[in-house]
Amino acid sequence: RYDVLIVGAGHGGAQAAIALRQNKFEGSIAVIGDEPELPYERPPLSKEYFQGEKTFERIMIRPAAFWAERNVEMLLSRRVVLVDPEAHSVTTADGATIGYGQLIWATGGSPRKIPCAGNDLTGVHTVRTRADADRMTAELDGLDQAVVIGGGYIGLEAAAVLAKFGKKVVLLEALDRVLARVAGEDLSRFYEAEHRAHGVEVRLGAAIDSIEGDGKVSGVRMKDGEVIPAQMVIVGIGIIPAVEPLIAAGAEGGNGVAVDHQCRTSLPNIFAIGDCALHSNGFADDMPIRLESVQNANDQATLVAKTIMGQELAYDAVPWFWSNQYDLKLQTVGLSTGHDATVLRGDPANRSFSVIYLKEGRVIALDCVNATRDYVQGRKLVVERLSPDPAKLADAETPLKELAA
Ligand code: FAD
Repeated sequence: RYDVLIVGAGHGGAQAAIALRQNKFEGSIAVIGDEPELPYERPPLSKEYFQGEKTFERIMIRPAAFWAERNVEMLLSRRVVLVDPEAHSVTTADGATIGYGQLIWATGGSPRKIPCAGNDLTGVHTVRTRADADRMTAELDGLDQAVVIGGGYIGLEAAAVLAKFGKKVVLLEALDRVLARVAGEDLSRFYEAEHRAHGVEVRLGAAIDSIEGDGKVSGVRMKDGEVIPAQMVIVGIGIIPAVEPLIAAGAEGGNGVAVDHQCRTSLPNIFAIGDCALHSNGFADDMPIRLESVQNANDQATLVAKTIMGQELAYDAVPWFWSNQYDLKLQTVGLSTGHDATVLRGDPANRSFSVIYLKEGRVIALDCVNATRDYVQGRKLVVERLSPDPAKLADAETPLKELAA
């Protein structure tokens, strides 16, 4: 039995253990993870790691010695399949039962498979783990053309890396613009144009029929009968939160596990954090949402550690996110969903600008492209829900900190 048992050795799980020790928690801690690796950063899997710019050592969240020094036991390559809230224990796939005082569920999610024939052919990839990225890398030699399915951040980042490698890339997006779920139209059109300028063929409103191949993928068949040749297909169409054992144990939820402001699930002594936690977020009008970001995983982990240490806090961290494509560094603060107006600040033609999202006059989010100063200074506008004059927001000569004063 461990005083705190953490399920999931990813961003949230690692940070929960780190934060417990930082906050002088002296009880026993174990982290169960189904991957073979110690916790590592996931964002580089579609960026610097896939591109070969960073080695695996450089994306580890902490060096191996750290966990032993902090007396955090890592139980790797083990998957929790059952939770028994009454017995205060979990059962792993290998049949072992492990007891807990408090349980922190930090399991993220598994990538959605594209629901069509051929989705399991060799050469069809999703990007969630180091193993996924290594499998893609192993197929790069001799690769001529790849199809990327999904114009979200992961699909766009993977397309950018492949284009940099000189591969032909066709990007298929079902909706009428990329990043449709997460950003406003200005940003979508900008990224579309950038990808086209780098040689990626971006197809919007794409209707896929099936993936073709004989054992190994050879192409993607569209609903109109056209077959796009491809030796590699990368699917980036979202995740399904990994919460089955908790839901089976009676936790409230469905698309994620429902948690309160302290990240407590409806089951006693069980918290949930990160991608799998359905929480009400003050930056989304207190609507229940799941956020898939390092920020959210880390901040919820830290909150739970402090809660376990007896502090009375409520989750209110401002969401932020980033994406790197080509030489473009996007930084986002706040959540733009529900905006009723946007202000463009700077000129996209200069490849340095920000889109500011307003709701009833208040700033709710910023998407800053190669504009770190706006990102840093605009944060306060979001946190304090300020309503500056839109004309001033649009004037790139007026520093945002003057509007937040
Ligand atoms: P994870 O980090 O996914 O960790 C969960 C772990 O639990 C995994 O190892 C999983 O295998 C394991 N697990 C699941 N079920 C079980 C079980 N039953 N038993 C044991 N172990 C289990 N975010 C950003 O903010 N910026 C970015 O630029 C960005 N880029 C990304 C690029 C890629 C390719 C991906 C995949 C994600 C990216 N993200 C980015 C999102 C970010 O990585 C996630 O939000 C973050 O990893 C969430 O942390 P987590 O702890 O909830 O889940």
